[in-house]
Amino acid sequence: MPWTRRSFLTTTGAAALAYAVVPARAARSNDHFFNWKPVRDHVWAAIGDGGNAMVVRTPAGSCLVDTKYPGLAHALRREAESHCGRVALVINTHHHADHTGGNLVLTPVAPVIAHRAACARIPEQIDRYRQFAESGPTQLGRNRGDHERLARETAELAERAESITPEQFVPTKPIDRFPHEESLGDVAIEVHHFGPGHTDNDVVTRVPSLNVIHAGDLVFHNLHPFFDRRSGATCRGWIECARRTIELCDDDTAVVPGHGDLTDIGGLGKQLTYLERLWEEVSKAVREGRERAEVEAMRWDFMDGYGYEQVRARAIAAVYEEVRAARG
Ligand SMILES: [Zn+2]
Repeated sequence: MPWTRRSFLTTTGAAALAYAVVPARAARSNDHFFNWKPVRDHVWAAIGDGGNAMVVRTPAGSCLVDTKYPGLAHALRREAESHCGRVALVINTHHHADHTGGNLVLTPVAPVIAHRAACARIPEQIDRYRQFAESGPTQLGRNRGDHERLARETAELAERAESITPEQFVPTKPIDRFPHEESLGDVAIEVHHFGPGHTDNDVVTRVPSLNVIHAGDLVFHNLHPFFDRRSGATCRGWIECARRTIELCDDDTAVVPGHGDLTDIGGLGKQLTYLERLWEEVSKAVREGRERAEVEAMRWDFMDGYGYEQVRARAIAAVYEEVRAARG
C-alpha cells in the first residue's frame, strides 16, 4: 500500500507537517545535473552517470541507495536532498566503484549499509576511485547546462585525488544477516541478499509500503550484463537472484535497475530470460566442443536491441568458463 499524504499527516505528526509544505518539484529541473525521474510519490531515481541512484523520502530524512562517482558526490547529495530531504541513511547495492564513489561525502553524515563482503572489497579498489576522481572534470565535459559549482567541486577533487583514502569509502554498517530491516521515520526498508550473482555482495533494497525495489546490478535493463567473476559473479547464482527478486514483486512494483531505465516485474523477467538463455546457449556450444573465442563471437536472438555491446563478449566468456568448470 503506498502512503498517502493524509496517512502521513495522521500518523507522524510534526515531522510530517514539515514534509507536507515542501512544494513538489518538476520531473526535470534545469538546475539539476542528474537525470532525475519520479518513481513513486516520495521516490526519485537518478538515471545514468554511474549506477542508478534512488532516494526515498521519509518523515525522518531520506534513504539514498547507491552513490555514483566520487567527483559527483556533493551534487548527488544536494539534488537527492532537494527532492527528498536530508540524507539519513545510505545503502550500497554492491561494492563496484560506480555505485559507491559518493560514499566519500556520505560516510561522515549518515550510516552507510552494505553487505559485509562489499566492505572488504571496497578498499581494494582505491585506484579506481582515484581514477574516477581524476577524470571527474572530463566526465562533466558533456555540456548539460551550467553547473559551475559542480565543475569547481570535481576540479577540486581531481587536484587531491591522490590523497583520498580507502577508509573514506568503506560502509559504516556492514550487514551479514539477511533479510535485514531498517526503519526510518516508521518506513520499513528491507535489504535482501540472495547469494552470489553480479558479485558476491549484491543486495536488493525494498520499501514494501511504497512497493518499490532497487535491484542494483542484478538488473541491467536492456543492456548486456557485466560479469565480474573475480568478485564472485556466477550466471547460475544470478539466475537464482533474479528469481528471488521477482518473488518480492507484483504487477505494480516499481523496479530501479542498476543500469538502464526504470522498469517493473517485466524487466526482471527479461533479465532472468537473458541469463537463462545465455546459460543454455553457451552450454550447448561447450557440448559441441566450440572454442571460447568462437563462442564469444556468437549472438542470439535474446540479445537483440541490447546496449553495452562492449561487455557482451565478456559475459559470454564468463559463462563459458563457468559451464566448463561445472562440467569438471
Ligand atoms: Zn556492478
